[in-house]
Amino acid sequence: MAGQSIDIMNLEKRFDRTQVLKRINLHICEGEFLTLLGPSGCGKSTLLRLLAGFEPCTGGRILIGDRDVAPLPPKARDIAMVFQSYALYPHMTVRANIAVPLEMSRLSFRQRLPGAAILSSKVRGVRSEIAKEVATVAKQLGLEALMDRKPAQLSGGQRQRVAVGRAIVRHPAVFLMDEPLSNLDAKLRQQLREEIVDLHRRTGITFIYVTHDQTEAMAMSDRIAVMEGGEIRQCAAPKEIYDRPDYLSVARFVGTSA
Ligand code: ADP
Ligand code: MG
Repeated sequence: MAGQSIDIMNLEKRFDRTQVLKRINLHICEGEFLTLLGPSGCGKSTLLRLLAGFEPCTGGRILIGDRDVAPLPPKARDIAMVFQSYALYPHMTVRANIAVPLEMSRLSFRQRLPGAAILSSKVRGVRSEIAKEVATVAKQLGLEALMDRKPAQLSGGQRQRVAVGRAIVRHPAVFLMDEPLSNLDAKLRQQLREEIVDLHRRTGITFIYVTHDQTEAMAMSDRIAVMEGGEIRQCAAPKEIYDRPDYLSVARFVGTSA
């Protein structure tokens, strides 16, 4: 598994007459953990949606590695995303939820039908390969004991872990997380924060993490891009932002203003 670099050049997004992102420029290194930090409404989620391809930009370019991804649909971008409100399939077990992306990419509609594995040794082979990969991800995320449960039988933190598992099972080069911890209580947030950092360290995937929580950003990131009003005000290592904020608004937001 290897992360890829991302180059965002003069990226713009407007909805009707409102300019939500204004000429964003950002280079993200291979395997970096970059956090987009800023108050609600500053454009963080919009930026992630443009990167993932869920929404077209109205100007500028995005390169992943050296590929221009503008013409590519989300599936072809080698990017996975976890949302603030993660949607698991309620009728499926944890195991089946994590396997979905692999099944969709490796088996045809007919091969996914119940019974197909009985008839075809090829389908059996692919299914056993998928089962192995799902087990590896489950182990990475400490989900082994929960594999036969359905989402309703899980806590919020466990569900979030399953959502992460489903997102990384295809080994994306880039992983986007939009305020993944905001619905959890403080203790669980702390624990999952450490798990996410650990996952980043072990996988080498390029992470873009979105939060409005300064402490979270400071604790987790290689670099923080502070956003305000659709622009990036400053992008630097946490210590640099804390010690030498470029703008008063950045200083206020990271809590260092005198
Ligand atoms: P954040 O994630 O930082 O809270 P968002 O990216 O969700 O911010 O939103 C940035 C701004 O764009 C907000 O002012 C929001 O109202 C506006 N916005 C987001 N999506 C749309 C949309 N589909 N149509 C119009 N305005 C939108
Ligand atoms: Mg948001």
